[in-house]
Amino acid sequence: MKSIVLLNSGGLDSAWLAYKLKNEGFEIHSLYINFNIPNSAVTSKAAEETAKRYCVDHKVLNLDFGMPVDHISNMTMLSASIGVAWAKMNGIMEVYTGATGAVDEDFINRYNEVNQGRTIDRVKPQLVTPLYGIRPRGETAKMCGVENILDFSYTHTCRFEIPCGECQQCKNRAELGV
Ligand SMILES: [Zn+2]
Repeated sequence: MKSIVLLNSGGLDSAWLAYKLKNEGFEIHSLYINFNIPNSAVTSKAAEETAKRYCVDHKVLNLDFGMPVDHISNMTMLSASIGVAWAKMNGIMEVYTGATGAVDEDFINRYNEVNQGRTIDRVKPQLVTPLYGIRPRGETAKMCGVENILDFSYTHTCRFEIPCGECQQCKNRAELGV
C-alpha cells in the first residue's frame, strides 16, 4: 500500500481528495496545520473528521504567529514546505494537496524544481495537486467519485469562522448544495 501525506485543511477539496485516494488504495497520513486564525476552531474539527473517515492517522501542527489576521500570507508555500518536511521525516515520498486555485500550475512545478535542488537530502518528496485546474467544481466532485456531496457538509472552506456567503469558496459550496 502506498503511503502519502495529505495536507488536510478541513475544507471540501481536502475531504474529496481524501475520499478519492482512500478508494484508490492509498494509506493517507493526514497533516493539519493550525495557523490559529478565526476559522481554525471549525477547520480543525472538520480536518479531524476527514482524517477519521479516510486516513490512517492525523497530525496537528500548531503554527501560531500570534497576530489577529484572518489569512496567512504565503500559506500555500508554508503548508507545502511543512508537508514535505513531515513526509521526509516519515519516509514518505508524496505530499498531496487539494489546492485548486490559490496558486497556479507554474507555482507547483517551480516549487517541485526548487525542492529537488536542495542538496542536503538526497531523496525529496514531491508536491502533488491532482485537483488543480478542474472546473467547474461539480467536475471536481465527479473526478473524486463523490456521488453524495451532502455527506461533506461537515467540511469548512470559508476563511471566516461563520461562512460569509460571499467569497468564492462559499459560492462554490452553495452551487453544489453542500
Ligand atoms: Zn466565505
